[in-house]
Amino acid sequence: MASTAGISVAVREPPSDPCPVCSGNEWRVQKSVPHLGKSLTHGQFAARETVHYCANGCRHPNGNLVTRRQAALTDLLVPRRSVSYDVMVFVGRKRFLERYQREEIRTALRHEYGITVSTGELSDLMKRFVAYLARLHGSRSEALKAALTSDGGWPMHVDATGEHGRGTLFVVMAGWRRWVLGAWKPATENAELLLPCLRQTVQRFGAPCAAMRDLGRAVTPAIAGLVEELGLSIPVLACHQHFLADVGRDLLKPSHGTLCELFKRTKVRSKLRDLVRELGRKLGKSIEKAREAVRDWQQMAGAGHRVPSGLAGLAVVRAIGQWTLDYPADASGLDFPFDRPYLDLYERCRVALRATDAFLRTPPQDRKVASALKRLRRRLLPVASEVPFRQLAERLRRRAALFDEMRGVLRLAAEPREDDTEQDLAHMRRRLDEWVASLEERRPQRGPAQDIREAIDVILKHIEDHGENLWGHAIPLPEAVGGGVRLVSRTNFLLENRFKHIKHGERRRSGRRILTKDLEDLPADAALVDNLTLDDYVEIVCGSLDQLPKAFAQLDREQREQQLNGMPPPEVDDVESVLQIATASLSTPDRRVVRTRAMDRRMLAAAGSRAPKPQI
Ligand SMILES: [Zn+2]
Repeated sequence: MASTAGISVAVREPPSDPCPVCSGNEWRVQKSVPHLGKSLTHGQFAARETVHYCANGCRHPNGNLVTRRQAALTDLLVPRRSVSYDVMVFVGRKRFLERYQREEIRTALRHEYGITVSTGELSDLMKRFVAYLARLHGSRSEALKAALTSDGGWPMHVDATGEHGRGTLFVVMAGWRRWVLGAWKPATENAELLLPCLRQTVQRFGAPCAAMRDLGRAVTPAIAGLVEELGLSIPVLACHQHFLADVGRDLLKPSHGTLCELFKRTKVRSKLRDLVRELGRKLGKSIEKAREAVRDWQQMAGAGHRVPSGLAGLAVVRAIGQWTLDYPADASGLDFPFDRPYLDLYERCRVALRATDAFLRTPPQDRKVASALKRLRRRLLPVASEVPFRQLAERLRRRAALFDEMRGVLRLAAEPREDDTEQDLAHMRRRLDEWVASLEERRPQRGPAQDIREAIDVILKHIEDHGENLWGHAIPLPEAVGGGVRLVSRTNFLLENRFKHIKHGERRRSGRRILTKDLEDLPADAALVDNLTLDDYVEIVCGSLDQLPKAFAQLDREQREQQLNGMPPPEVDDVESVLQIATASLSTPDRRVVRTRAMDRRMLAAAGSRAPKPQI
């Protein structure tokens, strides 16, 4: 032991309470058990624990001898571990809330508390923390449900996230409270696997007053199934953001994809990059001066469209190339189809080409600069072609304009607002109806405008399919909670934001950009941890964050008592096992088994063996 200082508990204390069976007060020493422990308050310590048994040899209803361990230790240490509850909570909070890396957590424990934990112990504690939190969440479900009921119900937000189709995380959130009520990792995203998750949530927290979902092929039927099964008459709302994105993808993806292909085939981007790099090398050590020259040149707009001579000229040509390639700067930060990066690149190429033509009208005196400028022009030139570049970009622009009109009507320009009023929504709905009616009028019946007709049909089809799920956000509250109306958020933004937060945190923690593995390894219930940032949630489950270790210890105490009383262990969560049913893809737990050398050897041996010779 590094240190045995600290603990001063009387671990030989005879029990002060009577035997629960015979009410006798006479206890005898059964055995003495050594412990090595680590806790935030005691540091690392060694202790011998004296265990007593009832002098009358009484037994619990389950048959076990009535014994007494030392409460000072059982309330401190996680069962079958040498670590205290508070160390586990410390590790969990650092890992999941503060997104510390492993080494950072180990260092903090060593420096602040003089505690050493191995990496294996650390992983174990992280997993255990999440599992304890999930148990606590479940054990407090009645109190959580009461709070939801006192709000007049809870709108169910449902969404799934993943990374490259793996490690799907499926989450149900109570919208008004922003609590995650449940999180699972189905082997694949399909309705049969999602429905049991929804069912379990309703069993624990009561039926929702509305449902908000994306347009997904799995979530949509799963919610429809739940609503039917429970005989609910609640609005099932499609997230406006997802709806818009869906329309946008169908409108823009084909031409945007073709434009992307076109850029790749003509190598416009890579050729521009090469030129920029080459010019950078030429500038070499003078790069700082060159930057200054570019800044000066930018200020001389009145001096006509000229490019200076010498290094300054090369620096300007290089800057034009860099500007062209900097099209991500035009992005609003939302993904496709809200941003159209290749259309942005196209527009920048067109601008750069026109500018270069202008600069060549009064060619630079310096032959080297003139030649660099001409080379830049040649690399941009493909985008000037009528077919295929211009026609394609034109079509994309027209469709994008139509899409942006719709976005304007639904007022989802950037982050959706959370302060819409009932009137806002009614107004928005009217405007959407008017706009749809105007589309029908604008739809060219025949003639050359075939593309715009098709585009309008795409929009009308989406309105037809999803129109009835777009409205109904105003939820009348029961008289019991004061009546009135409360709005459900128009989007799943709250939930999406939570996903983004999780992914961002994982990225920062792991230093990896691709999170496939990280998300696969992350237990689903880790999505519950963010609830600990919400005061109302924390108050219900454990009073305050400082009380979390105590709440965990109490869970174990209750479980021990139940076991001794011969009560069945708490209902086993069978949803998890349902979720891992073999499907087309190999889930992580399956893969840990299947993708092993032992399995390989077994298979190869079997494959290489010969059939027994027939007996004659
Ligand atoms: Zn007894």
